[in-house]
Amino acid sequence: MKNIVTIVGARPQFIKAAPLGMALAKVENFRHRLIHTGQHFDANMSEIFFKELGIQAPEFNLGINGKTHGVLTGRILEALDEILPQLKADMVIIYGDTDSTLAGCLSAVKMHIPVAHVEAGLRSFNRKMPEEINRVLVDHASDILLCPSVEAMSNLEKEGIISKAHIVGDVMYDMCLMASQKAGNISTILEELELKQNNYSLATIHRAENTESKETLEAVISFLKEAARNKPIILPLHPRTRIAAERFGVSLAGLTTIDPVGYFDMIQLLQHANILYTDSGGLQKESFFLQIPCVTLRGETEWVETIKAGYNRLWQTPEFLPRQKIAPYGDGHAAAKIVEVIKHTL
Ligand code: UDP
Repeated sequence: MKNIVTIVGARPQFIKAAPLGMALAKVENFRHRLIHTGQHFDANMSEIFFKELGIQAPEFNLGINGKTHGVLTGRILEALDEILPQLKADMVIIYGDTDSTLAGCLSAVKMHIPVAHVEAGLRSFNRKMPEEINRVLVDHASDILLCPSVEAMSNLEKEGIISKAHIVGDVMYDMCLMASQKAGNISTILEELELKQNNYSLATIHRAENTESKETLEAVISFLKEAARNKPIILPLHPRTRIAAERFGVSLAGLTTIDPVGYFDMIQLLQHANILYTDSGGLQKESFFLQIPCVTLRGETEWVETIKAGYNRLWQTPEFLPRQKIAPYGDGHAAAKIVEVIKHTL
């Protein structure tokens, strides 16, 4: 029996862990266990995804959140140093680019437990982003790098770490394909908000670069308010953005703010929207998968293929590129491919 331990802590990681959890559960000699760091803790940022997506209950919830990056990373690291040996982990799986990802990676590698990084090789080349530092450190320290795209592989090649990389596709594509078929039956969000296909736009904001100062938050909110003169904008409000708006006294009047929603509601909102405005990495891809145009509220993006395909543009770039039919993120079976890589390694 091999003990596989997944470490998650933030909303996008629950969504990425769901399809891989399903695939791991099918392997007879794998015992899959889950640690939740507690980084995201509100029911609508965490628990709802476990319930809706059938993710197994965490064996441990470390309840560590808030604070600075250093304190958060350090406290998770300290807690994991005790727990990972108890779980006799044969492999640790980490996702994306958060402080939970970095702490999970460091704790495991120093105990000589092999680490598999899902969504490896992504780069914004903006070292001011906390996520970018996490990505680079984690890719260099991990043992298995699971890349969603050719572009991600080529970033790792340039950094001299291609030998431990595998191209598997994007687990978010797996999840989005499953959810987009079911969302219409499960979600009632359009009726609740009295929305019809194409008569509204959707937005999310949560990145540090947009919420850290009054000026940047105000700039992005004014941009959305201007756009809302055409069609109402539904803005499920991330807790960080709500707190920042209150702290800086930035008014959100003119936008339809709602609490963060579950995954099926989000997919339902997205697939019927006329356009998406976002600084989210996951949502840029989901809008591409569902062929909804996206305006990215950032100065750069890691998901460059969505721009090339003509479905995404940076907010400071006036036009979308001509549409191109490309499928850069695999075939919707990334989780199964990851399981094969893990089986082979163990
Ligand atoms: N999401 C959701 N409800 C919301 C906002 C986002 O289910 O109210 C989902 C979204 O569909 C995507 C993921 O959360 O799958 C993206 O997470 P987030 O934007 O927090 O992080 P990022 O992708 O930027 O790392």
